[in-house]
Amino acid sequence: MGKVGNLEKIVAEFGPHLHDEPYEGWRADRVIDKVVPTHCPYCGVQCGMNLLVERDHVVGFEPRYDFPVNEGRLCPKGVTAYLQVHHPDRLLHPLIKRNGTFERATWDEALDLVVAKFKELQAKHGKDSIGVYSGSSLTTEKTYLMGKFARAGLGTRYVDYNGRLCMVSAAAGNNKAFGIDRAANPWSDIPLAEVLLIAGANCAETFPVLNKFLWQQRDNGGVWIIVDPRETPTARQGDLHLQLRPGTDVALLNAMLHVVIQERLADEAFIAARTNGWAETRELALRHTPQLAAEITGVPAEKIVQAARLYGRAKTGMVMHARGIEHHTNGVNNVLSYINLVLATGKIGAAGRGYGTITGQGNGQGGREHGQKADQLPGQRSMLNPEHRRYVCDAWGLPEEELPQAGVSVVEMFGKMRAGEIRGLLSLCNNVMVSLPDINEVRRSLEGLDFYVNIDFFMSESARYADVVLPGSAWSEDEGVTCNSEGRVVKINKANDPPGEAKEDWWIVQEIARRMGRGKYFTFNSPREIFDELRVASRGGNADYYGITYEKVERQNGVFWPCPAEDHPGTPRLFEERFNHPDGKAKFHPIEYNPPAEVPDEEFPLILTSGRVVYQYLSGNQTRRIGFLVQQCPEPYVEIHPETAARLNVSDGERVKVVSRRGEGVFPALVVRTIRPDTIFIPYHWGEQLAVNQLTNPALDPVSKIPEFKACAARVEKIHARALPLLGRRRRGTESSSVTRLRDGGQ
Ligand code: SF4
Repeated sequence: MGKVGNLEKIVAEFGPHLHDEPYEGWRADRVIDKVVPTHCPYCGVQCGMNLLVERDHVVGFEPRYDFPVNEGRLCPKGVTAYLQVHHPDRLLHPLIKRNGTFERATWDEALDLVVAKFKELQAKHGKDSIGVYSGSSLTTEKTYLMGKFARAGLGTRYVDYNGRLCMVSAAAGNNKAFGIDRAANPWSDIPLAEVLLIAGANCAETFPVLNKFLWQQRDNGGVWIIVDPRETPTARQGDLHLQLRPGTDVALLNAMLHVVIQERLADEAFIAARTNGWAETRELALRHTPQLAAEITGVPAEKIVQAARLYGRAKTGMVMHARGIEHHTNGVNNVLSYINLVLATGKIGAAGRGYGTITGQGNGQGGREHGQKADQLPGQRSMLNPEHRRYVCDAWGLPEEELPQAGVSVVEMFGKMRAGEIRGLLSLCNNVMVSLPDINEVRRSLEGLDFYVNIDFFMSESARYADVVLPGSAWSEDEGVTCNSEGRVVKINKANDPPGEAKEDWWIVQEIARRMGRGKYFTFNSPREIFDELRVASRGGNADYYGITYEKVERQNGVFWPCPAEDHPGTPRLFEERFNHPDGKAKFHPIEYNPPAEVPDEEFPLILTSGRVVYQYLSGNQTRRIGFLVQQCPEPYVEIHPETAARLNVSDGERVKVVSRRGEGVFPALVVRTIRPDTIFIPYHWGEQLAVNQLTNPALDPVSKIPEFKACAARVEKIHARALPLLGRRRRGTESSSVTRLRDGGQ
């Protein structure tokens, strides 16, 4: 039975079940008594929407036309988001696992058990024997609270968050080059750029409403250069597609920089006045010709020259990138090589001249600003800096000697669980059994824990392994702020109370801290009080929120940080006069190309890459319960090029086995010309035997500690009919439907 216990019973009781109706079904006689302006709970665009409320129940939505980012637009996830609020799968009571079965408990029973177990483990094994793993789909108040809870509540060094699987390569690269971690420009700059260089970002599916700005740029006569191993819907709309081998961005960008230098397209005045480190970077780039890069990347040299000329000759231009270049053992170097091109051409710090990282989660930006990262304190301060530590301890009233040292990344934390160093875990708003690489090892980590507490509002694949599950709040049940991908802080408003006995997440976390005897650091009566403390704790840091108030956010329809004073309007565009390093200059970094940690060989001849689809969000714990979304994309599939499929004698729609050094899975083949012949792609939103993360490589970038989700060695095997496994959770009538649908319309 294992640690999960009675899986069939858990799934029967808690789903995922499909659901398509608002509370009390479709009714024409609704009397809406409240319209609550807020933002979508999903991606980092943070589209504005109104929630329609009838008697404390969210029964509908409408897009907000007054919010300048989406101006009335929403994507398929946004229009169905409200259906999760009163979904029949919602967790309504605390649960304690007894003899393999979750049993209903009172809050006192559950919280007392959590506190007793945590105290027992810490008494036996030390404070660091408990780990805390948090998320970035939470409000910023909660992310701040989670960092403080770990350090001041439990006194453990081991805290990290799921942005580690998302944005940290961009964050580290930005900090190294610019001295601050935030997109440099507001999206209103995008239509002003003559050229967009979009790398590893399928915005059309993963950031749909951003396309508003991209199409405006196109309407203004702009061109797009797309760098992606797949001909994604975004790439298909581009003017020039550089379809590189996964993980070879550094080689490509060094060669583009080579052309920029050779053709005298570098902005020497900008370089001299505003940067350091050019000579070494220039010298390295001059050794990397387009011909050399063509061999490494698989992109013809002429296309590399064409791209460098397009970007280099334009007066204005913006570079944007996402997980495609960041999810690598060379993730930080990939980011820095794009920044080198931006700096060499002086395309930053002015209207239409810029650079931005595209976040994944709704609060991917805010979630990495205020201290839930292993090495970070509020305001993007560092755990390693004595002055920063002192400032935050003063703000918290915590004796400095009680503040633990920096911890380690989540993948490393899960290694420490297997080693028996971390014995207890509290997690909030994440789903490691889908989202971490090499989930067979992740399962071992969870099964080896002495005690695991999971806070969530649906029973995720990971929560099934927990000893205690505490029912938390959906996004409509709490107040707070998030920060979208531009750096714009927006306001989330409460529309309804949590259902049943579920509680606001911040209340649950604070209550555990209080019962641990640390109540003097946790005296909050509302998210507003948490935010007011956060403002002070972040004051003077890079991510300075001191001048941001709830009222100002609502009045201005968002405030861009840094905002150091209440009469400060915020900072939509960074670097107009100086970068954030002490001398005010940006830094070049000479980067040599290194291949991914695992490259194809005879046994595993293909490169497996993974990613997202428009109809699902992250680990799917929310979206795999919404019928409409599941109908559009019911299961994962493996994209295979026709040449590769022919060589393997695999037909479109046929189920094949995909194998890596870590595991194997069975997926329907989607035979498409849009992928490179040496590469296969599987979307990642599913768990158990449908998880691509059975296969992915947990190798980490040495700086950002992001795993290499985007490139590992794999092979595809044909399955003979008698060997076909039964996939227990596949629904009748959906066989190969995702394949058919994607080929006909979605691809
Ligand atoms: Fe929500 Fe993002 Fe879609 Fe907007 S684009 S509706 S924020 S998922």
